[in-house]
Amino acid sequence: MKQKKLLYTGKAKSVYHTDVKGTLIVEFRDDITAFDGGKKDTLMNKGGYNAGVSAFFFSCLEENGVKTHFLEMLDEKRMVVRELSMIPLEVIVRNFAAGSIVRNYPFKEGSPLKPPVIVIDYKDDSRHDPMLNDDLIIALRLVTPPELKRIKTIALRVNALLSGLLAKEGITLVDFKLEFGRQGKTIYLGDEISMDSMRLWDKKTGESLDKDVYRFNKGDVMATYQVVAARITKKQKSGAAKKAVAAPKNSKKRAR
Ligand code: 5GP
Repeated sequence: MKQKKLLYTGKAKSVYHTDVKGTLIVEFRDDITAFDGGKKDTLMNKGGYNAGVSAFFFSCLEENGVKTHFLEMLDEKRMVVRELSMIPLEVIVRNFAAGSIVRNYPFKEGSPLKPPVIVIDYKDDSRHDPMLNDDLIIALRLVTPPELKRIKTIALRVNALLSGLLAKEGITLVDFKLEFGRQGKTIYLGDEISMDSMRLWDKKTGESLDKDVYRFNKGDVMATYQVVAARITKKQKSGAAKKAVAAPKNSKKRAR
């Protein structure tokens, strides 16, 4: 497969055309940003860690019947994906209160959210990704009502699978963000699932294992990403991805 013209550059990824119809190449760059791009850095190998974790999660999800855009890795940082028409929604699933919902609502940091809370934002940096509700999503014609239902069902399924998988590695999936797109009428999970788009806490120590380390200067970001990526993907070699996705064992415990 040959990489062709640049299609799109985001804050941490670049997307290229290829010589194969219906496919694109996503390059995970070493750039990291936070606070709507207000904080920016380039950190060596960061792209590789996020690409590896995303590929691992997409493969596990595919094995469990979730349709994703992931096709294969070209090298450590470049992923071949299905070309999707992206839907400008950020679908966030929250298992514990943290981040913006603690800032915006009277939730205590770390309190469990049962059932998980789905929050959907409009993906538009110029508007600071405002929160939507179902009526707004339908009024904006971003998706049809059945598609919205399907997206929420997929998001909860992804949550159950990833929470279980991470719990086995001693990691709490606090929250994460998904993006979806269409190829024809089929909805696929797109974008990435990585330390940049998830909030992860170590079950024993309560330490942040994700982009919060960068956002809030909590320590060595790259050391954290390296260790977390190894912790998450180590089972890939043993082909245990399928087994690793049982329901969360200690979902009754507080995250920290
Ligand atoms: P919060 O709303 O608390 O800032 O974010 C909730 C979760 O969604 C976090 O895991 C965060 O990393 C992820 N998230 C929210 N917005 C974005 C975004 O624009 N880009 C990425 N990569 N992740 C996001």
